[in-house]
Amino acid sequence: MTDSTPSLATPYRTHTCGALRAADSGSDARLAGWVHRRRDHGQLIFLDLRDRHGLTQVVIDATDAPEAHAAASRVRSEFVVSVAGRVERRLEGTENPRLPTGEIELRATRVEILTEARTPPFYINEPDAPVDESLRLRYRYLDLRRQPMADRLLLRSRLVQAIREAHHANGFVEVETPNLIKSTPEGARDFIVPSRLQPGSVYALPQSPQQLKQLLMVAGVDRYFQIARCFRDEDLRGDRQPEFTQLDLEMSFVDEDAVMDFVERMVIEVSRSTTPDRPIQEVPFPRFTYAEALERYGSDKPDLRFDMELVDLAPSLTDTGGTPVSGFRVFDEALAGGGRVKAIVVPGMAGATRREIDELTETAKRFGARGLAHLACEAGGDVKGPIVKFLGDTTTRAIVEDAGAGEGDLILIVADTADVTNDVLGRLRAELGARLGLADPNVLAYCWVHRFPMYQWDAENGRWDATHNPFSGVVPEDEALLVTASGDPARPSPEDPAGQARAMQYDIALNGWELGGGSVRIHRRDLLERSFALQGYSLERMRNMFGALLEAFDYGPPPHGGIALGVDRWAALLAHQTNIREVMAFPKTQSGSDLMLEAPSEPDPAQFAELGLRFVGVKPAGDAGA
Ligand code: ASP
Repeated sequence: MTDSTPSLATPYRTHTCGALRAADSGSDARLAGWVHRRRDHGQLIFLDLRDRHGLTQVVIDATDAPEAHAAASRVRSEFVVSVAGRVERRLEGTENPRLPTGEIELRATRVEILTEARTPPFYINEPDAPVDESLRLRYRYLDLRRQPMADRLLLRSRLVQAIREAHHANGFVEVETPNLIKSTPEGARDFIVPSRLQPGSVYALPQSPQQLKQLLMVAGVDRYFQIARCFRDEDLRGDRQPEFTQLDLEMSFVDEDAVMDFVERMVIEVSRSTTPDRPIQEVPFPRFTYAEALERYGSDKPDLRFDMELVDLAPSLTDTGGTPVSGFRVFDEALAGGGRVKAIVVPGMAGATRREIDELTETAKRFGARGLAHLACEAGGDVKGPIVKFLGDTTTRAIVEDAGAGEGDLILIVADTADVTNDVLGRLRAELGARLGLADPNVLAYCWVHRFPMYQWDAENGRWDATHNPFSGVVPEDEALLVTASGDPARPSPEDPAGQARAMQYDIALNGWELGGGSVRIHRRDLLERSFALQGYSLERMRNMFGALLEAFDYGPPPHGGIALGVDRWAALLAHQTNIREVMAFPKTQSGSDLMLEAPSEPDPAQFAELGLRFVGVKPAGDAGA
């Protein structure tokens, strides 16, 4: 790893540990860094000196430099030392072609120990050694010294730099928004911060800067972006942390295409500059409607690096009048009940053992299916599977043909409601794609999914919930649908026309992960109030939660729209990681702990008192809601 920065010389060093080359031989140099490895050959001591820029071999000869040799004898791994001497070419045959500095070594005449180090809890000089993650998190500052983490931190830094450059080059203004605000719902619980100056009141940490960025549009900022920290109190998993970073942006006087076009250009530019060696699968990015994405991939964040599309088997299972006639009760009942029978074709898995099939069936059940049927297309054209005897030869052949299956393929079939069928097959597709290595790990397959439904029915609360963001605009031709069947906006029901309305919402997916999402917003107060009413907000609650934005819309809001992209997710995917912790300097564990700082921790009673709070305990788990 070389460094092209002009000069990183300081009073402690003339060069970084990654800078010296054969052309420097004969000159004097001084380096400072950590002792990566020490080899004591008696007369000669070798130190590999490391900083984040690289590694340089230092040699200390007892005859030439007895004092330096004595100091070097005391040195251990991870001591911080400063060394000075002459740069020399290494002896022929001892060069290290894997190191950028591998042609030279520093013959040290001075070795100064700057600080000593205890033996670290894990090897820092063995990047591939498996280390328990909690140990890594407890000693994150040591973990970050290890090459893979250091590299990922640098990649993330390049990513954010490229994001900033692309936005500044396109007329965006970087604006910071506060973290102590009022609740901005994004579908998670708020983290709240009690106010000392106003006892009994709380701030909420932003789930996103959504309302503030819209207010910036009313303010005339025109194009805003921010590398924004967001806070959502929800259960953690690989792609979630309680606090995370978004590239948040908003643009005025735009429609869906204008936002998507800019974001697409920006994403391409940023990807190419951050990871130039990773090809982008398809440009322009494929665009799917939500309905199409579910129909073809069973997912609104499809991994397009491999095919295995979902196939509709209804044509092979029904007569010309559309009546189900497959002979297999499960299929016929699903179709007669308005459900779906669909399949995926798994290449080369026809030889799956009984156990493998049982495992797949269990997986499908875990995903919510009642069962999983299969047909194995064996060599020689035979098709096997327990359902063949019900389907008969003609229907079986028709399925194989419709599914486009060939010899050696395994057809997996789910019959259920449309939602369950698509979801289960979509998840099986993702899982099998990963297990069979169908996706090229180097390729970046971005795509857009748009035209989401505005709302989904919330049976528990008897209202429509925004599928994404409560501020999302409605596709202009669907505006008339934002009404209830009863005519009273305060009395929604699942039959409301609103259920058919599509949002001007677009998500961007990368390799099977949702990378970001945004929308063109509702910018008319009357329409926003109508939409909030469908979402079950009383006028009073609306004013209480979104008063500033509603009021601002009385003062000339421009049409506007935006998006937010998960920077942690983006960095993780660019760094070939499946967990965003791997690209965060100081992440939290699954249970939200910072193992290094030991947070969260018990507050000082005095802090509680100052805030006018008293801890009354929590109900034991399992008692919730009782
Ligand atoms: N505020 C949204 C989010 O955080 C993004 C957007 O609609 O711009 O997901």
